[in-house]
Amino acid sequence: MTENELIERDKAIERFKNLAGVYDLALKDCNLEKEVYPHYEALMRGKKAVMELGVKVLMEAPVVSVRKTGRWVYKPRDYADGVYECSVCKEPYYLDGDTPLEHLYHYCPNCGAKMEN
Ligand SMILES: [Zn+2]
Repeated sequence: MTENELIERDKAIERFKNLAGVYDLALKDCNLEKEVYPHYEALMRGKKAVMELGVKVLMEAPVVSVRKTGRWVYKPRDYADGVYECSVCKEPYYLDGDTPLEHLYHYCPNCGAKMEN
């Protein structure tokens, strides 16, 4: 069994739309290519349709939320104990000199990122 792999839907859709645009431009130049490639127009229409179908399939595909991972970053301060900041959302936590682990902060209370330290 292979591992599941995740893709970013928005980026995949953007790529399909860009390719559909490329084939649309190719269709506009069809008349130049028809003499050399008689089936050029049909080929470009087919490729454009496949890209548009790809967008439709991706829009309807099931999604899985992916939890972000982050790290606690210690930020020293001159006038008091330092703060720990979530590397994902940058929310600072004032812990009276304790560490996030002493407060059982395995996840950021603000954004829910799973912390690696
Ligand atoms: Zn956070």
